[in-house]
Amino acid sequence: MGYLYLLSSIFFILGLRGLSSPETARRGNIFGIMGMIIAVGATLADPAVLSYGWIVSAILIGGTIGTVVAFKIEMTALPQLIAAFHSLVGLAAVFVALAALYNPMAYGLGNPGEIAIASLIEMALGMVIGAITFSGSAVAFAKLQGIMSSAPITFSRQHLLNALIGILILALLVNFVQTQILLVFWILIFAALILGVLIIVPIGGADMPVVISMLNSYSGWAACGIGFTLSNPALIITGALVGSSGAILSYIMCKGMNRSIIHVLLGGFGANTSEIASARAEDRQVKTGAAGDAAFLMKNASKVVIVPGYGMAVAQAQHALNEMAGLLKKEGVEIKYAIHPVAGRMPGHMNVLLAEANVAYDEVFELEEINHEFSTSEVVFVIGANDVTNPAAKTDPASPIFGMPILEVEKAGTVLFLKRSMASGYAGVENELFFSENTMMLFGDAKAMTEKIVQVLSQ
Ligand code: NDP
Repeated sequence: MGYLYLLSSIFFILGLRGLSSPETARRGNIFGIMGMIIAVGATLADPAVLSYGWIVSAILIGGTIGTVVAFKIEMTALPQLIAAFHSLVGLAAVFVALAALYNPMAYGLGNPGEIAIASLIEMALGMVIGAITFSGSAVAFAKLQGIMSSAPITFSRQHLLNALIGILILALLVNFVQTQILLVFWILIFAALILGVLIIVPIGGADMPVVISMLNSYSGWAACGIGFTLSNPALIITGALVGSSGAILSYIMCKGMNRSIIHVLLGGFGANTSEIASARAEDRQVKTGAAGDAAFLMKNASKVVIVPGYGMAVAQAQHALNEMAGLLKKEGVEIKYAIHPVAGRMPGHMNVLLAEANVAYDEVFELEEINHEFSTSEVVFVIGANDVTNPAAKTDPASPIFGMPILEVEKAGTVLFLKRSMASGYAGVENELFFSENTMMLFGDAKAMTEKIVQVLSQ
């Protein structure tokens, strides 16, 4: 059994390694699936499993729900789906801890009221992290799904309140380990649930990507905690893998946005100013163009850099975009794609979409690889991206995105912005670039407009 768990853990590590690059991501996924099959198979074969009725029913119900959701979900809604999944991991940790507490003999932990201190600490810690993950993920889901505003919710002495609840949790934990009183455990659950909500409500706007990966990390540590309660090495190892990889991803995302993780955790960033931004934008003049103008400009350039963003994902314009790039290449135009680390609504969002449309990997560049090339590009085609190009991040210390590195598209000869209106992006801030001398706005749906450009180029 132990060997099988070890084997599954090796597959999970290979899976994570594969997922680090788009070229190997598919293989990584297959390794992950194999690891999971081995882990579940080994657990089912454990002689401690007395009957399969409940297990099979749960697998059938859960598997069916998962399959239906996976087929139906729009890729742009993946962040909230992930938040929902994380909340379930947290809830599972709470339930396992409760089950072990009420029936410790079934878990080999001794008689009720006589559980060893080490087991009590593991159980309580797993439960606390699980409860924080559950309620925090539920709030993140509500924010990402638009059920509640994604703007930060802040109030005075918020951090003090969080610190006090944190201290209360610690005190309850110590008390529970000493007394094993069930009521203390329930109060502990309640306090952790409240802390989960309070930790996530002040985070908003452009910091949401970090929240998702942070909750991913928490869910890993919660699973790790369950692993100790259940004495299951596969769960301990995979929980630790998810926990640490989520933490590393949070760090990478913070670096990509030039934010300190402490600032993100303390929250209050990215207030929703989109209405003010669009109201102001309506009063000002911009240069607009049509598909024919865009086609003409790009066809006559020697290099065009394409900057995709969330709007491309919403419109599912990646296939039309690849077709447009192919036609331009036939005209002798060099094409490069510039990817910002937080473009879209999830890490790697743009890479996945471009890979789906069979864009060659060697045409796709990260921010730091491509930023120096904008000054030598005649045309930049910004398709459904906004915040990731906004110079306010460099120039306006009052801006909620100040400090985030951006794709410096303004340095190109002409910047084409393909979007439907003057509306702001996720962070809710106006983009001065729309009013620049060298900017041409192409108003329309990303897919429909790109298809029109393709039509013109094919004539
Ligand atoms: P933005 O959200 O800044 O801008 C996207 C633009 O796309 C909007 O201004 C919108 O303008 C336009 N758009 C929407 N639908 C369409 C359509 N059908 N056709 C054409 N245009 C469309 O996106 P970016 O990718 O530039 O930046 C990502 C933002 O999301 C950052 O602020 C990031 O912090 C945040 N974020 C990122 C996550 C991640 O993990 N990557 C997760 C959560 C948030 P209009 O309405 O006028 O069309």
